Amino acid sequence: MQTIHRLSALRDRTRLIRAQGGRIALVPTMGALHDGHMSLVDLARQQDAHVIVSIFVNPKQFGPNEDFDAYPRPADADAALLAGAGVDTLWMPSVAEVYPDGFATSVMVARLGDGLCGAARPGHFDGVATIVSKLFNQVRPDIAIFGEKDWQQLAILRQLNLDLDFGIEMIGAPIRRDSDGLALSSRNAYLSESERALASLLPHSMTAAVAALEAGADVAETLQSARATLIAGGFGPVDYVEMVDAATLEPMNMLDREARLLVAARLGKTRLIDNYKVMPGQV
Ligand code: AMP
Repeated sequence: MQTIHRLSALRDRTRLIRAQGGRIALVPTMGALHDGHMSLVDLARQQDAHVIVSIFVNPKQFGPNEDFDAYPRPADADAALLAGAGVDTLWMPSVAEVYPDGFATSVMVARLGDGLCGAARPGHFDGVATIVSKLFNQVRPDIAIFGEKDWQQLAILRQLNLDLDFGIEMIGAPIRRDSDGLALSSRNAYLSESERALASLLPHSMTAAVAALEAGADVAETLQSARATLIAGGFGPVDYVEMVDAATLEPMNMLDREARLLVAARLGKTRLIDNYKVMPGQV
């Protein structure tokens, strides 16, 4: 595996790969890698392509009171994991390389980014759309792989890929969970031991809500009761518990087509997100 920090060196390498007829698969990350990230890498390795993983903690997607400075950056351990997994190139630019003085552009995907995490984290998805556009232009991948863990992000990035004619094959990877159901996340490292024990209430309350919804329970009541369960179990505030159309993210108050249940809630100082498929016609 070659680790690259400068855009000029990345371009030299990708030009060579393309000249030899090779395809490129990109896995964008912010590092602090866990099995969820590594499942994306595994998918990338199945694509018969040169695998590039990027690690960049993107300042533009963090709000002023968020955890940009505290975000874990175990660079050596991450690099060792990726090398061991057969990654070809690690693209790890500095903030100055990505956003030089005078950088002035922002990419905004309308509508899909307005609700859910977009409402709770103003500007977050503009930061995501901007960095992913840059990564797409820097790497020019044929394939890009993102996790369903960030369902709203994936919907926004599919739209971005369409609207800006990147022409990239976008692959969504299933959510990897711990044995108690908690979705793996770099931010789980913030949880204290007692918070980590409480955290499994998040997946448990969501799977209970999915079962109730699929059994025909009233949508608004089910969402309200899931929210109340979380608060009673020590979470709070709960940013949202919503059932939305899986593709458009429009809120749904009837389960008349495939839906997605999305949640964001705080446990102590840690913000956790998760989502589940909800299928109609199960009764
Ligand atoms: P991050 O480093 O948190 O920006 O995540 C990088 C990529 O890994 C994103 O596409 C995430 O959706 C994905 N990812 C994060 N956690 C998981 C997980 N538990 N299962 C699957 N994909 C994940």
